[in-house]
Amino acid sequence: MSDNTNTPFANFEKRVIDACAVLSCTDTESKKLLTPDRIIEDTVRLKTEKGEEQFDVYRVQFSNARGPYKGGIRFHPAADINEVKALAGMMAIKCAVVGVPLGGGKGGVQIDAKQYSKKDLEQVARGFARVLHEYIGPDKDIPAPDMYTNPETMAHILDEFEALEGKSVPGAITGKPIALGGSLGRGSATGQGGVYVLEEYVETHKLKREELTVAVEGFGNAGSNVAQLLHALGYTIVAVSDSRGGIYKKDGIDPYHVSKVKAEGKSVTDVYKEEEVEKISNDEFASVECDVLIPSALDNSLREDNADSVKASIILELANGPTTPEADEIFKKKNVHVIPDVLANAGGVVVSYFEWVQNRMHFYWTEEEVQEKLRPIMANAFHDMCSVSAQHGVSYREATYILAVERILEANRYRGR
Ligand code: GLU
Repeated sequence: MSDNTNTPFANFEKRVIDACAVLSCTDTESKKLLTPDRIIEDTVRLKTEKGEEQFDVYRVQFSNARGPYKGGIRFHPAADINEVKALAGMMAIKCAVVGVPLGGGKGGVQIDAKQYSKKDLEQVARGFARVLHEYIGPDKDIPAPDMYTNPETMAHILDEFEALEGKSVPGAITGKPIALGGSLGRGSATGQGGVYVLEEYVETHKLKREELTVAVEGFGNAGSNVAQLLHALGYTIVAVSDSRGGIYKKDGIDPYHVSKVKAEGKSVTDVYKEEEVEKISNDEFASVECDVLIPSALDNSLREDNADSVKASIILELANGPTTPEADEIFKKKNVHVIPDVLANAGGVVVSYFEWVQNRMHFYWTEEEVQEKLRPIMANAFHDMCSVSAQHGVSYREATYILAVERILEANRYRGR
């Protein structure tokens, strides 16, 4: 095992190794589960508004045992090979947990997207498509949005890709604008999937939504959608945050109002008057008073040094990798239920899968049809996880890894890998 503790890949490695131990995998089998099929590293050279620049580009194709590689692309300064490799492996786990016929991959461009104009970011997206052209396609590897990439980015990648192919290939990318063959419901899918999973938890544990308070860390796509959807269902959103800080309001925050103010380029901390809310720093956010904590921002936000201060009894991980293995141990002792990222945020890739299916049959579903298909997939995966958790006496996270590793192993074995 890597001695670099808490690097994203070391965390992923630990979780897979633990699942392999339960499943009595051979060394060769575990090694296969931890070794990406292919790592593509390149650079994109561009003339941006700042001058001649060069950006590191990565795509890790982790496993295609269960179907074509699938996973997002992030534009982020921390997107290095270690992180992209871990996220690619997690995509393979995620797709297996929800049982969609796709493998795992992830891409990244090391860039601080906030520092660049839309025009520059379009050039970066097109550069990404050129560099990766031969490796991408509906039967090979299907990128999608992730941090600091969005439907517009996907439109630019698709346009460049199709120009190189000389034909229309909408199924090569998901998370596209509706006008280019995107799926209804994809924009809110990560938040919606998380809501469906939380609803199953709430029903199983016979809790009452109206009595549950929720804190959402991060107010990007996943965070803002989950806050709005839960608010509409009767949960009380008591705290929200963004990169500039957080707010706590005991009698409830209106997330629609927060979104409106955020759309004007302001922070969540600017939404209410001083006397109406309590300001919380991002370092304090984990310990905010609530029943459900929803990390929806960066990785490693729940760590050994702050896990003990968490007041929530349920953590719904909409971010990828928000909890370190050390924090997991603390949550186990405190009896905090962590609904892990590979299930909680899988709604995004499930609707990406729907988009890919619709692109291939050239027939499109209504928003209702998308929701009708998404809900049972999320609910079944939740109950599969609960059964494995009860069967082996392990946490939800351990259960999801056992479930997924078993499914990937089965596919590897049939292929003789
Ligand atoms: N980036 C999202 C994730 O981490 C979505 C991936 C996809 O739709 O392929 O799950």
